[in-house]
Parts: sequence; structure tokens; C-alpha cells
Amino acid sequence: MSSVMPPMCDVAVIGAGLAGALVARQLAQQNLNIVVLDADGVATGATGNSSELALLGTPEFHAVLEEQRGPAFATEIWELSARNLELLAATAQSLGLAAPAVGSFRLIGTSAEAILVQRSVQRLSHQGFNVLLEDAMELGYLIGLQTYDDLAFDPVEMTQRLLMHGHITLRPRTEVQRLESDSNGVVLKAKRNSLRAKAVVVATGAFTTRLCPRLAPHLTMLPVQNVECRTQQTLPMPLLLDNGQILLQDRGEFWRLSAWTNQTGEDPWTQIEKYGKQFCPQAIMTRRYTSWVGRSSDGLPLVGQLAGTPHVYTLTGLGPWGLSWAFIATQQLLGLMLHDEDPGLFNVQRFNTT
Ligand SMILES: Cc1cc2nc3c(=O)[nH]c(=O)nc-3n(C[C@H](O)[C@H](O)[C@H](O)COP(=O)(O)OP(=O)(O)OC[C@H]3O[C@@H](n4cnc5c(N)ncnc54)[C@H](O)[C@@H]3O)c2cc1C
Repeated sequence: MSSVMPPMCDVAVIGAGLAGALVARQLAQQNLNIVVLDADGVATGATGNSSELALLGTPEFHAVLEEQRGPAFATEIWELSARNLELLAATAQSLGLAAPAVGSFRLIGTSAEAILVQRSVQRLSHQGFNVLLEDAMELGYLIGLQTYDDLAFDPVEMTQRLLMHGHITLRPRTEVQRLESDSNGVVLKAKRNSLRAKAVVVATGAFTTRLCPRLAPHLTMLPVQNVECRTQQTLPMPLLLDNGQILLQDRGEFWRLSAWTNQTGEDPWTQIEKYGKQFCPQAIMTRRYTSWVGRSSDGLPLVGQLAGTPHVYTLTGLGPWGLSWAFIATQQLLGLMLHDEDPGLFNVQRFNTT
């Protein structure tokens, strides 16, 4: 593939992860000419390392969101997450990919958490969400929150297929180093090339602040630690622990444990070790790795137009539950770019980025 870029395009999308691919595909379907640039290759960032599970809801309990931000906010967030799963299922179907509902079981160990989860389930059931409380004594916990609608899918395959479109030109191994906006568009400067685009979408995940330094106070690079191990045990469905920060999955050949934390000073490896010993003590560790996500200071995606840089949009900050947001966040961005609609709760301008 030639590394020479075309001199001009309608929209340049920086980042060939799931977010960049979703937005590129939808813009290409509007007959726009799209160039997608990635410093490495397709789905080589967080998308390629993910645990491939799109969960319903948020790491925080619904009742906690209600306390912190009010009932209307908590309801809207859950509705957006449910809509995300619908969009994911429709996207998978249109691309001929599987996205089965595998559900998840969230384990609750303390009575304080049990009260919160009971309150959350009451509200959510009333609003029509498919959630249930179940006894979890067998696993050594008080209760468990059973959700049924969480979807498993292959984000790498999906990203690759999304980018297969006649109006999309892909430029791997092209790191964009600088953006220069003027009233007519944006010039993207890479090492040996430059490209002029009428508009740019920055979908660079954990590395977004390098191109958009104004987002630095609102976006941090968060490590997600992973261990894969071989075991004879089986796990009927994914387990969530510690405020949604630990995920245990049976992947057939192996189990995967993923962990992140939003508490400074906490070490996710300690948690992985603890739960590994508890749930699969005989397992043999076969792989251990760290990958990075961009997480916003309020945990919600950053979607919209960047203040002070005309024609530059962003779709980032998807965080450690990013598959729960990528599809709906793309819809919000498209609404803004094509119809001038406000991206609502995800609008990057909720933070002062000037
Ligand atoms: C280990 C792990 C497990 C996870 N598991 C889950 C899960 O089970 N469920 C869930 O909901 N979420 C999960 N996530 C989160 C989810 O994977 C991410 O939120 C999502 O994939 C982010 O997609 P993205 O396209 O925004 O970013 P990325 O996939 O990181 O894509 C960004 C791309 O931008 C490119 N790039 C960066 N800078 C530049 C530049 N200057 N020029 C050109 N290209 C550039 C990078 O090379 C990269 O390919 C997990 C994340 C990790 C790390």
C-alpha cells in the first residue's frame, strides 16, 4: 500500500479503532470521501485488546448515578447504553457478524452494596430493563445482579469490515503529528506527508491529548491489565466484580481476567491475583499484558466539536467499558456533523476546553 496520501478529502478520521471505523463507515455511506489514518494498523489499540463484551449500563450502580447526578440522568444513561446494544446488534447483522446475548453476573459482597443494587434493580425493572437479583451464596457472595442483554462480539473483525468501503481510503503506519485548522478546513501533518480535509475526526483513544492538548485536564490514559490462564473449570457466564472494574470470562481455551481502577494508588494486578486464586486456583497463567484506554473525568465519552479548532471533531474517552458506548457515541457525533444536533450528555463542551 502506498504511503502517499491523497492531497484532499472530505473527512479525515484519525484512528482505525472501533470508534474511527464506525464514524468512517457512516460518513462513507453519505457518499463522502474518507481517509482513515492510523499510527499503527487497524484495531491495534484498545479495540484489538478488548475483552469483547458490550455490557448494559455503567460500572457505577444505577442508584449511585441517581444520588450523584439525579434520576433523569441515571435513566438517560441506561437508555443510551441499551440503545448502544441495539445499534451494535444491527451493525453486526449488517456486516454478517455474530453478536450473541451472553449476559453477565455482577457479584455483590457487602451489605452496603447489596442495598444499592436492590434499589437499582427496583428502578431498572420498573423502567423495563431486563435485570434480576439472584442468590450468589454458592460463589461466596451475598447476591448477584443478573443482566441478560450484554452482547459478545469480535471488535477486530467488525472494525476491519467497517473499513471495507469504496469511499474509504486507509493509511496505516501514518502517525498524525499536528493539525492546522483554518476557515476552509484542516491540514493534517504526518512525518512525510500532509493532507487537507474539509473536516477531521480525532478518534485516537488513549492518545488523544497528543493531538488535542486542550482535552488534557479532562482525559486520562487508564491502564487495563489482563491475565489469560489455562484451566479445566468452566464459567457459565462472564462475572463482574469490584464496581465493574474486574471482568472474568471463560473463553473456551482459556479464562481471561481484566482489571482497571479509577482509584489512584490501587493496583489492578493485586485484584487479578486475588480473584484468580479465588475462582481458578489451579489455573496456569499463559499470558499477561497491559493495554490503554482514554477515560474522561466523568467516565462518559467525549463527543463533538473542539473549541478553538474549526472543523475538528472528536470521538474519544470511551473508557474501559467503551464497547458500551462506541455505537451510540458515533450516532451522537454523526447527528452533530450532518444535522447540527447537540450530542447531549456526551458533548465534549460540557467541559470548558477553550
Ligand atoms: C484490555 C482491555 C479490555 C477491554 N475490554 C472491554 C470490554 O470487554 N468491554 C468494553 O465495553 N470495553 C472494553 N475495553 C474498552 C474498549 O476496548 C475501548 O473503549 C475501545 O476499544 C476504544 O476504541 P477506540 O477506537 O476509541 O480506541 P482504540 O481502539 O485505542 O483506537 C485508537 C487508534 O488511534 C491510533 N492513533 C493514536 N494516535 C494516533 C495518531 N497521532 N495518528 C494516527 N493514529 C493514531 C492508534 O494506533 C489506535 O489504533 C477494553 C479495553 C482494554 C484495553
